[in-house]
Amino acid sequence: MSELSTKDITYLPGVGPKRAELLKKELKIQSYEDLLYHFPYKYVDRSRTYKIGEISSTSSHIQLRGKVISLNSMGQGRSQRLVAKFADDTGVIELVWFKYIKQIKSGLDPKAEYIIFGKPSKFNQSYNIVHPEMEKVDSAKPKITFGLQAFYNTTEKMKNSYLNSKTIQKMQQNIFLSFQGALSESLPAYIIQQYKLMLLDKALRTIHFPADSQVLQQAQFRLKFEELFYIQLSILRLKTQRKLNISGHTFTTVGDYFNHFFHHNLPFELTGAQKRVIREIRHDVGSGRQMNRLLQGDVGSGKTMVALMVMLIALDNNFQTCLMAPTEILASQHFDSIIELLQGMDLNVKLLTGSSKKKDREQIHAELQSGKLQILIGTHALLEDVVKFKNLGMVIIDEQHRFGVAQRARLWKKNSIPPHVLVMTATPIPRTLAMTVYGDLDVSVIDELPPGRKPIQTKHYFHNHRNNLNRFIKAEIDNGRQIYVVYPLIEESEKMDYKNLAEGLEYMQSAFPEYTTAMVHGKMKPAEKDAAMQEFTSGRAHILVATTVIEVGVNVPNASVMVIESAERFGLSQLHQLRGRVGRGVDQSYCILMTGHKLGEDSKKRMSIMVDTNDGFEIAEADMKLRGPGDMEGTQQSGLPFDLKIANLTRDSQLLQHARNVANAILDKDPTLENPENQILKRQLTKLARQKLNWSLIS
Ligand code: ADP
Ligand code: MG
Repeated sequence: MSELSTKDITYLPGVGPKRAELLKKELKIQSYEDLLYHFPYKYVDRSRTYKIGEISSTSSHIQLRGKVISLNSMGQGRSQRLVAKFADDTGVIELVWFKYIKQIKSGLDPKAEYIIFGKPSKFNQSYNIVHPEMEKVDSAKPKITFGLQAFYNTTEKMKNSYLNSKTIQKMQQNIFLSFQGALSESLPAYIIQQYKLMLLDKALRTIHFPADSQVLQQAQFRLKFEELFYIQLSILRLKTQRKLNISGHTFTTVGDYFNHFFHHNLPFELTGAQKRVIREIRHDVGSGRQMNRLLQGDVGSGKTMVALMVMLIALDNNFQTCLMAPTEILASQHFDSIIELLQGMDLNVKLLTGSSKKKDREQIHAELQSGKLQILIGTHALLEDVVKFKNLGMVIIDEQHRFGVAQRARLWKKNSIPPHVLVMTATPIPRTLAMTVYGDLDVSVIDELPPGRKPIQTKHYFHNHRNNLNRFIKAEIDNGRQIYVVYPLIEESEKMDYKNLAEGLEYMQSAFPEYTTAMVHGKMKPAEKDAAMQEFTSGRAHILVATTVIEVGVNVPNASVMVIESAERFGLSQLHQLRGRVGRGVDQSYCILMTGHKLGEDSKKRMSIMVDTNDGFEIAEADMKLRGPGDMEGTQQSGLPFDLKIANLTRDSQLLQHARNVANAILDKDPTLENPENQILKRQLTKLARQKLNWSLIS
């Protein structure tokens, strides 16, 4: 195969410099191998020939066999066309061409029998086929179209240069004609045997030219398996190598800080899930290996408490620790609540964000290096190179998806022995995506909410229910509760029907003159933002009008209503995050999704999923189905570190699990892939890494 990956597509018969340029620009195809891995997106069954008499309005692409019985040029100039009558023993159909008229006219043989292929459409009570594919029935010449015909994605630019699906199919054929023998195998023989996989050579030939749907499925299975298997093998090998080569700090004791906190400061009983996760982490940090763990827990499940207690273990072992959050609001909220929780414990805790004053910043830098500062909480500012620790032992990253995986690596480097890393995410990630994007991390899950929480009630209202909504808001505030109202945009957008924040503020102030309304958005200065949040957290403001800056983490247990304006503008996981801002106290909480009457199908689905379930994992799965894994929140910014050509994380989840198990079993037996039979795996991994993957992204 290696020769195919270096063979320039330009020299493939039927390509040449111009088409090669296009293939490269439009589809990133440069080598023979790239083209072979440009898989069809659909197939049309050409194993069956239809009779003209069978054509009905539901016929899609079909093939017919017959003769051309007449040929006429019609029209003038732009409306010029060529019309042929094509007949078999059951009837006649018209074939129409608007282009290539001369060539077709001179090329058609009135005596010959043809197989034609195309999609019939109804025109003036009879059927015709525009620009059919035609092949002379010639038993001496092998046909390239039989069985299932492959269709390939092309772009507008390609089509304009006559580089269509059919042309690509011919090029695929030319690749197979251009070399003798079989393509070399890319999986070890023992895997092929054990899992009864089709050989690569056959799989590639079949995927482009399948005889029937049964062999096609076998070919697809083989190629999907291979794709998922190598991704899992890369990820798991990274993890294995890390475990073998990188030692971590061993936290041997749970000492005074942890115990004092546990006995005197802990304001509530930990949930079973919180206890279990803390145990899992303690086991990790005591093992002598560096911990890299993902903590998944739905909004409100109490991840912060876990983080704090884990940080105390680090302090008990004489290490410094830091907590990084994605926004200033969230960082300063963590700071406030941690300071409060640690009351009476005489710990040095500081906050560092982009807007920290120079003097404070310098003091923090100095105290970090002397070891005096024990707990640092902050934003991306923590990543800067000037932030140096004396002995950083534990890093907590809150709301991981906002950071992108590369940044994890930067925190590692803040100590010669890398610190333990715990990443916490409240956006539940579908299992398959977690296995791939975070596949190198160990996973802990908090699958239990603190006791006494009442499930949030979610309602979908149209704008004409606004009076009802306002009465409801008033009743809640009169009961002592507080209200969030979230708008999708800060600035006036092109379309006037989106409520903007400023208008929203004005509206709420005029609708509720007797109450105080505060506002936060992303473009405010940090000090203003703080002041506004303070108004609301202290309870002075009854209503907080906001953008999605409050999406993650914000914790005001007395707030019981989340109104989301133009809710159709938000993605599912965002809606779920926003909803998670309420339901944090003992009161019944509500989430009201406001939309206009005109809603697209997807928006309707999103609203009904939100109304139907509070389960973040269910929502994440639904979100992935609606949007596809590449567009999932959490992957948009960092990007999927690979490009799936044939497998699909939504549909092939079982196969993914299988591929992961196979990869795991291999690494268990041969962690460094030294066995002769595994050399092929090593070669493929190297090739994969060179070609398309940037694994440094996920390490
Ligand atoms: P998240 O997992 O979304 O970050 P938080 O850590 O902000 O959740 O916790 C949500 C709320 O639940 C906070 O007010 C926190 O004090 C409270 N909480 C956390 N754990 C418990 C518990 N075991 N029992 C009662 N309340 C808890
Ligand atoms: Mg949180």
